[in-house]
Amino acid sequence: MTASAPQIDPPFLGEPYLLTPGPLTTSYEVKQAMLRDWGSWDDDFRAMTRDMRSRLLALLGEGAGAFDCVPMQGSGSFAVEAMLASFVPRDGKALVLANGAYGLRSAQTLQYLGRDYQLLDKGDYLPPRGDEVAAILANDPSISHVVAIHCETSSGILNPVEEISEAVYSAGRKLLIDSMSAFGAIELQPSQIRYEAMVSSANKCIEGVPGFGFVIARKEELEAAKGNSHSLSLDVHAQWAHMEKTGQWRFTPPTHVVAAFLEALKAHEAEGGVEGRGGRYTRNRDVMVAGMRDLGFETLLQNRWLSPIIVTFFCPADANFVFDRFYDLMKEKGFIIYPGKLTVVDSFRVGCIGQMDEHVMRQVVSAAKETLAEMGVASAAPPAAALEERAKLAA
Ligand SMILES: *Cc1c(COP(=O)(O)O)cnc(C)c1O
Repeated sequence: MTASAPQIDPPFLGEPYLLTPGPLTTSYEVKQAMLRDWGSWDDDFRAMTRDMRSRLLALLGEGAGAFDCVPMQGSGSFAVEAMLASFVPRDGKALVLANGAYGLRSAQTLQYLGRDYQLLDKGDYLPPRGDEVAAILANDPSISHVVAIHCETSSGILNPVEEISEAVYSAGRKLLIDSMSAFGAIELQPSQIRYEAMVSSANKCIEGVPGFGFVIARKEELEAAKGNSHSLSLDVHAQWAHMEKTGQWRFTPPTHVVAAFLEALKAHEAEGGVEGRGGRYTRNRDVMVAGMRDLGFETLLQNRWLSPIIVTFFCPADANFVFDRFYDLMKEKGFIIYPGKLTVVDSFRVGCIGQMDEHVMRQVVSAAKETLAEMGVASAAPPAAALEERAKLAA
């Protein structure tokens, strides 16, 4: 890594840090970029769109030339829906690998789209493995596409997309990846991991504000997607073809969000790209997890599966621990955390992404320590049921 250590701004006007996986804490420069109005048809804005698309593509590294980037208005789920509707043909069938809310959302999206699919549901957090995927594909030749979640943000698990990709292409099928919360901080280079298309959005690891997502797909898949989509506004092929021809988005673009995002992309590059960004998030996670474990908290996942994006902790067994109060007291200290999404045991999550560094993460741990004392929680150790749940991962 050649870039120097990032300069992290303190939060603007004393706003709390968002320890959430997007929207997240953005830099002053990113916010400031939204102070100007842009005409969507104007050359200046077209140049911004062009610059943004090529900067995003460059993050793929070697092999990026076979791909193109198509931004899509809306939140991340709109871009996922656009990808699924545009690349899974109407007579195709998808295998969805789910281990949390976002995998299930992809399955629900296919249901709405009227696309045939099979669901491999691993529950709250167990990773879908390559051999399981291979077995399902061997049994069902009608499956044309596999949908995988890169970092399943609901538990924070980093799914093994590399072995999944190997299984998919060994069986001659195609892979679509929801890399919403990972792209920009975790490598997804087509020279290392084969896939046809992936999606992410403005407000995750690139550290922009919410308002659009983007699909990065092989050009031949973009060509072939013509006529697949059920939806006018979510048609990736149509958006791409129009953008190639006119340099414009088909419908009103979120101009301010794009301006902010371009600023965020420049900061991403200055930090050392994916490697630099991922390095800072990894240090954030390591410092925060070590500090929380010192307080007695336990992570849902073993180290091997922990992403540098967001970490799930079990709620302490101590009867004095009440999540809502913990949340409020943490917020008073300047940190907004995130409730958990596990169905079996109580949990909460702490994000590692956004404009913060390991010094901030140390303050997070101090705030948690103080908060436990204020609540009269003697031990942050989880209930036995939580540890039994976790033992499943080792099994
Ligand atoms: C954030 C996220 C999405 C999109 O969620 P929106 O609320 O629609 O922005 C999809 N998949 C994953 C894995 C995510 O983290």
